Amino acid sequence: MFINLFLENLNTLPAFTIAVAAMFGVVVFRYFLVAGLFYFYFHVWKKEAYLAYKISSKAYTRGQFGREIGWSLLTSFVFAVAGGGMVLMWQIGYTQIYALISWQDIWYIPCSLLLAMLLHETYYYWLHRLMHIPKLYRYFHKVHHDSLVTSPWTAFSFQPSEAVLEALALPLIVCFVPIHYGVVVFLLTLMTLSSVINHLDIELYPPYFQKHWFWRWWIGATHHALHHKEFRYNYGLYFTFWDRLMRTESPTYSQKRFK
Ligand SMILES: [Zn+2]
Ligand SMILES: [Zn+2]
Repeated sequence: MFINLFLENLNTLPAFTIAVAAMFGVVVFRYFLVAGLFYFYFHVWKKEAYLAYKISSKAYTRGQFGREIGWSLLTSFVFAVAGGGMVLMWQIGYTQIYALISWQDIWYIPCSLLLAMLLHETYYYWLHRLMHIPKLYRYFHKVHHDSLVTSPWTAFSFQPSEAVLEALALPLIVCFVPIHYGVVVFLLTLMTLSSVINHLDIELYPPYFQKHWFWRWWIGATHHALHHKEFRYNYGLYFTFWDRLMRTESPTYSQKRFK
């Protein structure tokens, strides 16, 4: 009841500000929870056990984690403003987000999730290719690549200009794709989780992952670590298909398991 009343009045500045502040809290909490759990489990507590699965042999640079967390907090603020904007757009009626669902339409839930992921993949792949153009790189993407060896804390380590471009993806998608708000929340959590896993610098997936008929289309830590190491390959986000199609997948990745 109170939530409904709040959402209906979101077009007033105080309500929008509260929504952005609440979103910032959620995004920051989720970042520290997921990145923190992965960092302490794989890099501290079980460090010895996972040494064989560590991808890079180089050490982290001095002050790297603090720098990554600082940029990630800024990114979280940008994501919170975008999230608040998306809810506002939803309430005004500019999006295809819906709240009610019937059992007959339950099949559409996984379809909408996959469709949103494919569109996000396409948006991100081409944005990522653009940000690697030398003239644009320094203004949009350099901060993320300051992490030569990635860590769970690298997950949101972007300069604000890149964060804004990344944050536009979902609000754009929900303008065109009918999507349940629960799927939006799930997708936002999945983005955090996959970003932390892909920056973990420890390969969690089994060796057959890279050759398997289904799993070879998905990106893991090895795939993305090669992007940070080699710069000019592996631009994908969740899936490998754009890299395969555009021949930007690292030859090292297909030859052998990267170590
Ligand atoms: Zn890059
Ligand atoms: Zn990265």
